[in-house]
Amino acid sequence: MFFKRRKHKWLIRDWQKVYGRPKPQMAALLTRGRSGSHFVLHALHSHPQVAALEEHVLGGQLKAYFNSELFPIDEIAEKQLLPQKQNLASVDWILLNKPKAEDVTYHFPFQRDNLRLIYLFRNPVTLYYSWKKGWDEMAARDYGLAAADDDQVLGWLRALILDEMTSYGFYRNRDIDTVVSLESFTCESDENLRRVWARLGLPFVEAGQRPRLEQCPVCETRLEVQEDGEAVLYCPRCKKSYRAAGGYNYIGEIDASYLNHWKSKEKSPYLYEYFSQLLGTELMAFYDNETYLAPDSADIFEDLLNHTIDRICKI
Ligand SMILES: [Zn+2]
Repeated sequence: MFFKRRKHKWLIRDWQKVYGRPKPQMAALLTRGRSGSHFVLHALHSHPQVAALEEHVLGGQLKAYFNSELFPIDEIAEKQLLPQKQNLASVDWILLNKPKAEDVTYHFPFQRDNLRLIYLFRNPVTLYYSWKKGWDEMAARDYGLAAADDDQVLGWLRALILDEMTSYGFYRNRDIDTVVSLESFTCESDENLRRVWARLGLPFVEAGQRPRLEQCPVCETRLEVQEDGEAVLYCPRCKKSYRAAGGYNYIGEIDASYLNHWKSKEKSPYLYEYFSQLLGTELMAFYDNETYLAPDSADIFEDLLNHTIDRICKI
């Protein structure tokens, strides 16, 4: 062992000295909940050279990380998504899980070469329905309150989208940063993975070569498959089924059939028009025309989103 593990304490060491190689670079997945972030994060984490972290890990501690003598090794080693990389020496990229954009961009004047942005964007109409449902459930369950007002949810979502877009827009480097469409990623996962990994300078890894969660992270018993509404991983010793944050199912089938369900909902014409005015008709037509089904949809979407961001950042 190169170092002793001490719970709840940072171990201060020189990465090069401990692992015999330069420290990993950092990438940040910019987005908010209900955008399919864990689906995308787990897919990116499946690369042997990428370690995606749990939410809220390192967000406020980047300054210490970038000081070459201060590494929160415990945080990085123990708070990865599952399955965890056992040896950080194999990791070339640490992927931050939905950090606040300002916690990342604050470091750009000094560390731009070490930081990449991956901006994940979901159809705002379906995002609206997801947040509305979540707010309504939370209001009833936690506060005993009536459903949230539609316009309040919409106003909050509008502010959120503009905040993310301007953060990405003012700081992006088009040569090294990238945007991801959740819909395109759902329909063409391998092509989207190839694209993002390539942007990080990583080779593509075929699905069969990617590490999978097979052992219980607590007792190391081989996990079984159990029915719990759908097939999920289950530890017979801990008597626990495994899902990640956001309800992500490690062995769930990718289901693209829900992507156009928004078209048959009553409020959708209004929402579609609302977001067309805000973000442009070209971007919203990507969803209406189901362009995400096209093989080159990731490139099409990046151009569309960058065009929208160009316009919004000029306001
Ligand atoms: Zn177990």
